[in-house]
Amino acid sequence: MKLLIKDTTVVTGNDQRTVLYSAGIVIEDRRISDIGPSMEVESRHPLADVIQGRGRVVFPGLINCHTHLQATADKGILEDFGFPTTLRFPTSGRGLLNPDERNVFGLLACIEAIRSGTTTLLEISNDIHEYVDSLDSTGMRLILGENINDIDSTKTRDGKVEFLDSKREAGLQRSADLIEAWHGKSNGRVLGFLAPHAPETVSPELLRESREMAERYDVGYTIHLSQSYEEIEAIKRVRGVMPTHYLFANDFLGDRLVAAHCRYVNSSEIALLGQAGSAVSHNAAIGARRGAAAPVKELVAAGCAVGMGSDNMSEDMVEVMRAGLFHERVRRNDEMDPQPEDVLDWATYGGARALGISDDVGTLEVGKKADLFMVNVRKAHLVPTLRIVSAFVHNGMPSDITDVMVDGSWVLRDSKLLTIDEDDIIAKAEEIGHRAWNRLIAENPNVPFPINLPPGPL
Ligand SMILES: [Zn+2]
Repeated sequence: MKLLIKDTTVVTGNDQRTVLYSAGIVIEDRRISDIGPSMEVESRHPLADVIQGRGRVVFPGLINCHTHLQATADKGILEDFGFPTTLRFPTSGRGLLNPDERNVFGLLACIEAIRSGTTTLLEISNDIHEYVDSLDSTGMRLILGENINDIDSTKTRDGKVEFLDSKREAGLQRSADLIEAWHGKSNGRVLGFLAPHAPETVSPELLRESREMAERYDVGYTIHLSQSYEEIEAIKRVRGVMPTHYLFANDFLGDRLVAAHCRYVNSSEIALLGQAGSAVSHNAAIGARRGAAAPVKELVAAGCAVGMGSDNMSEDMVEVMRAGLFHERVRRNDEMDPQPEDVLDWATYGGARALGISDDVGTLEVGKKADLFMVNVRKAHLVPTLRIVSAFVHNGMPSDITDVMVDGSWVLRDSKLLTIDEDDIIAKAEEIGHRAWNRLIAENPNVPFPINLPPGPL
């Protein structure tokens, strides 16, 4: 099938950051096959199915380089008690979900992701196999990293840091199993990744073996880095260096690495990341909630590709972009840098570079896979549309997004989700989320909890 979106505005996201007006864009065989002045494009493709694009703007799909979909079950609670959380439960609501319930929250998160213009996400979690079929059924572009560590968590309460060979081997096996089962599936729409958890929970052996496995499978790898003061103190105490130096000393830095957060990295850590060609996932909204801001300008100057991620509790990439703009201007007391176009670039092409998929996605250009979203700009908060990228980054909302296409197929069309039963999933998630958190509280009566939960679903 050949599809033409005509008489529209196209934010290409190309090197020159070109915005095309009165443009047409043609999609066939999952890719963009033509793009240019609408009348010319239309005359070249007389048999295409036509969508009228006036009053709409077509953007490259947003790329979420760091998320944990199940954390949507902890929404409204874990945003506000610090990281690591000061709530002393042995787990959180999401930790009590059974596989059926994890499928529900995986889909709930994808609803929010798609409605905020996300076409690609890097999911990092344990036992992704339990809900991966559901994720695949959404039609989203998925990169899957099994969250693994090898620390002996029974010893950490006593301040001891020991690692378990058996845990390392089991984690690497789970990673290999997921990659073997899914890498390249659904016409290459699903890819594998390695995801050792964080410097303080991962041994030198696991760092080295994760990178080796990523190279063997020709996939990328990610880690949480410089996420908390607790991490930095633990690495300084156990390894005698800063977290990035610990990774460097164990051959972990490289151009396949997506280092998530990088909130507190110092100048020598930034230089190491840049020299290695490593990418960074700037998780601006959760960072702001944690009172922390990554040094994005310095990381870019050092040579890092910068993508953006939502991390926990929210999948709203429109909010992530706006938080990224605010964050960086406030951090450096700079009212002009970054510009909205810079932030859109982080959330699209930058993310594609970080994940190693920029030959295929990240911009709207001929030959690229058709991952895009359309915005209805006839909204009070978006007109006049004098500079649409700025208007959308500063003022846009997910509800402005009417259509989302991934790999040439619509997943959201005329504001209706085509691949998920939205009402059913939202109703189930509301009920399961209340049940899980009430159970957590009931099972831990001695843990102080400063919230009065409602009596049940609202
Ligand atoms: Zn994370």
